[in-house]
Amino acid sequence: MTPALNQESGRETIARSLNLGGVAHDRLDVVFVSLDVESGGFLPKEHACHRKLLEVGLSTLDTREIRDIVPGENGAAWVSKMRATHYLMSDSVGIESNRLDSRKRRLMAGDKFEFGNTTVIDRDGLADALANDLQILDPQAMEEGLYGDGDGKEPIYRRIIFVVQDWSQEERYLRESIGLDLDKLGTVMSVADAQPIHSRFGDKKPGLARLMAAYNCVSLHLHNGANDAVYTLVVLVLGTLWRHAWDSQLQGDWSFMNATFPLLRIRGEEAILALKEILAAEMSGRCEQCARYGHVEIDCTQEVAVSSHKDMVPIVASIDNVWIETAKKIQAHSGVRLVLRLRGQEESVIRYPWPDTHQHRSFHSQRA
Ligand SMILES: [Zn+2]
Repeated sequence: MTPALNQESGRETIARSLNLGGVAHDRLDVVFVSLDVESGGFLPKEHACHRKLLEVGLSTLDTREIRDIVPGENGAAWVSKMRATHYLMSDSVGIESNRLDSRKRRLMAGDKFEFGNTTVIDRDGLADALANDLQILDPQAMEEGLYGDGDGKEPIYRRIIFVVQDWSQEERYLRESIGLDLDKLGTVMSVADAQPIHSRFGDKKPGLARLMAAYNCVSLHLHNGANDAVYTLVVLVLGTLWRHAWDSQLQGDWSFMNATFPLLRIRGEEAILALKEILAAEMSGRCEQCARYGHVEIDCTQEVAVSSHKDMVPIVASIDNVWIETAKKIQAHSGVRLVLRLRGQEESVIRYPWPDTHQHRSFHSQRA
């Protein structure tokens, strides 16, 4: 199968697709599709679904949808264009398990899809459903009367950048558990593995929860395949926006940073909440009782515990904390130690990490 792009070509391909590559005509006309698979390795051996695939989640972002809009604060305008599909295997409905991961998160979250309603599907229908999802008709080509090569009038499909978190594992699921050959579909242009793309110094395989924390996203109901697919795409886009903002300000142009990440803060959760609001508006609301979309609480007949989807990002109370957080973020993203020198009514200097900062860069804030 297609190998994943390395860090350099992956970052470049994604930036060009998002039109952040610097050359307007160089833009790639693609759809990002991220995929995440959950399997029952945590279920007891005697369970019928032990080590079987339980869920597959997809999340998409069509670059044509964001072509004419700016990303907005925290990339919210772009993240709001993402959509997700959650397939739960019909023999996995209702599985309950209290098994937790090393961070005390429930491993079975098949009933906790946050970005739409779950589609229950038989195992033998999954490969066809995914093949269909990965062959996205190009309406623009159809309007222009364009068709693919071949004898008949073959439709033209959109080109896809396939995004995963740990390609070696997901590739094996696709091939062995699902029986889907991406190469045969002919629509996947590149595979972007988020792990090498995000990796920095000594952290070759940053986990999704860690990346989300770095971008101030609340990792609500991780281990749901579709939530993880959305989160993977969100941090990929946020990381690309951040690098673009950072590189631009290094050249002396602060406009993108100020418009997208004011005060150098990434509040990724705001983008995720904006997406949920758009989805609720499109799907006639979201029930506060069962957390499903398409009805409101008053109509709900589900006997489901109220979800904790109202969790908010912690608010940082004092200005010093804001800047310490900022320094941590900049350090995490740039790999350099630094000193923030704040110029205001009371000049103060914040060093991070301290107190033994030696190899630092000075940084003058734009605080008024
Ligand atoms: Zn409900």
